[in-house]
Amino acid sequence: MRQGLRRRFSAAGVLLSLFILATVATPPCLAEAAIAEHLVRNGKHVEAIRLLEEKWRAAGNLSPEELRLYLDAYYSYGKQFLEKEDFTNARASFLRVMGLDRRHADSHFQLGIIEKRAKDYQKALQYLRSAMSLGSQHSPEANLAIIEAGKECLAAAQKAIAEGRTKDARWYLTFVSSNFAGEERNKALEVATYQLIPLERAAREYAKATRLVNTRGRREAVRILRSIPKHYPMTFFADRANELLTRLGEKIIVVRTSTGLQLPPAWRRKQTAHFDVYYEKEIFFNRIVPHAEKALPQIFATFGYSRPTWKKKCKIYLFSSQGDWRKFLETNKGAVLEWSNAFAISKAMEVYLYESKDTSYMVKHIVPHELTHVVHFSVVGNLDYTPAWFGEGLAQLHEEEKPKQTRRMLRSVRRTENYIPLRELVSLHAYPADADKISMFYLESLALMDLIFRNFGPKKIREMALAYKKRRIPFETVARSVLGITMSDFEKLWKRYVE
Ligand SMILES: [Zn+2]
Repeated sequence: MRQGLRRRFSAAGVLLSLFILATVATPPCLAEAAIAEHLVRNGKHVEAIRLLEEKWRAAGNLSPEELRLYLDAYYSYGKQFLEKEDFTNARASFLRVMGLDRRHADSHFQLGIIEKRAKDYQKALQYLRSAMSLGSQHSPEANLAIIEAGKECLAAAQKAIAEGRTKDARWYLTFVSSNFAGEERNKALEVATYQLIPLERAAREYAKATRLVNTRGRREAVRILRSIPKHYPMTFFADRANELLTRLGEKIIVVRTSTGLQLPPAWRRKQTAHFDVYYEKEIFFNRIVPHAEKALPQIFATFGYSRPTWKKKCKIYLFSSQGDWRKFLETNKGAVLEWSNAFAISKAMEVYLYESKDTSYMVKHIVPHELTHVVHFSVVGNLDYTPAWFGEGLAQLHEEEKPKQTRRMLRSVRRTENYIPLRELVSLHAYPADADKISMFYLESLALMDLIFRNFGPKKIREMALAYKKRRIPFETVARSVLGITMSDFEKLWKRYVE
């Protein structure tokens, strides 16, 4: 107890009286100052600190020169912690420097950076601004960090909005609009007006509806719930309202999909292990969705996974009326690229299907094909640099019976004029411009993928898919580095496959 008190005395009491003492100090002990300086210069901060503290304890004070060295040592000590990402000790060190010298500009800067990383933006901004006004050598970086903090707060606000956390979003937006000027402030006001205020209104309506559900006003609750997606489409509470309607066994209102496509009004929604399905008719749900669940593990197996690795469910929009499907394509013209009975927006993990008369074709071909595109994206994370043949080859590999027929079909057409030579096929990054060549392109893409799959197996398929993640690379390079085969040897394989 006694010792504890004494220690506290040396830590706080001595520091307080330091400035007074420093001014009336006896001539500086040059030897100690010189040793300390040497230690600091050689990165031995702890030793320098220890030496000076001993001197301090013994003499009761430090000379201004020694104090400067002591602060330098402590500051560098803090920076060492910072490099090791030990923020607790780094913070403590810089605070100690500031406790002895309130105007230590660089410590203000370092503390600003630490608090920014800890997302305490209020403190971060105070430190960074005082670092600049005290003339820190890190002023340009402090200025950049302030700008970054503004951007981070805006991003945090957007995230809170997406997650329905209205209070957090409001805090961040208010913080930005009251602490920043110019672009950041304008953006904050814009987000508040066009996103936060509607979200807050939707939240109030949603709260009112949930209160009514729990009491006796179920009918009124349903009316309110169905008005939320209409008035506040694509907000967090539009989704929540639909979820609650689903639980209540009521039809839901989906005005827009998560990628912003406009949908026909009242649908139903049901979730399975890996899918979040929006559909018109129960009968089609039962015909399609179980097959999708069954196909999924096989698709993942092609990439070498023993089971699906999706963290979030894939959305399936299942149309069953031709009129609705046509209208859907018409309303979203421009956003919807393909005119077919199905397409996938793999980036958003969405599949759009129109269940026409031929359920078996749908189940055998379209569903596994589109799902493969989504799985492919989920494995790689970016398909911008994936050559066209690779994606379409993979997707077709999972269509029932198709790979078996490919080789035979290819043998019969390989001498026609539309045949695409191997080297040309593998360098296509888009679909061929010539419409006559499209079906040949699909056929050859599948053949090529089939060949690779048979000869090299799923692990290599995944490695190849990942090789195309960051930039465009020639097939030759991928063949050599992933498959371990030269282009001329690969061409021999291809020739044998085709002939
Ligand atoms: Zn496709």
